[in-house]
Amino acid sequence: MAENFSREQLFAYLDDDLDDALTAAIEKCLRESAEFRHRLDKLREDRDRGEHSIGAVWRRERLSCLTREQLTGHLHGILEPSLSAYADFHLKTVACPVCMANREDLREKQAEAGAGSKRRRRYFETSAGLLNDPKK
Ligand SMILES: [Zn+2]
Repeated sequence: MAENFSREQLFAYLDDDLDDALTAAIEKCLRESAEFRHRLDKLREDRDRGEHSIGAVWRRERLSCLTREQLTGHLHGILEPSLSAYADFHLKTVACPVCMANREDLREKQAEAGAGSKRRRRYFETSAGLLNDPKK
């Protein structure tokens, strides 16, 4: 019985990606067969070493946080559409506190940088005025 499961099915089971009937069948085998438990343990090890199912990768990507670069891109509205949609989902639907805090931080830094460059420009214009005016 346990031998009838394919590797793919077992990986799917580990990823919680299997339909209820198969999940129940696998769990029954797990209860009954130490050898099967051992086999599944080995598979889990394989998987954790880097043999990931597409489902697991997809889920990880989907749930993972945005990088500072991605958040900056999102603030500027320059992310590619699929990533932008994900960023919206992550920030608005998931409302991830880490990414929301990061985004606030970036927004503030951006505002500061904007104010800083205005100040520099004003300073430069004033100095240029001084240099160009022989009376001063
Ligand atoms: Zn996040």
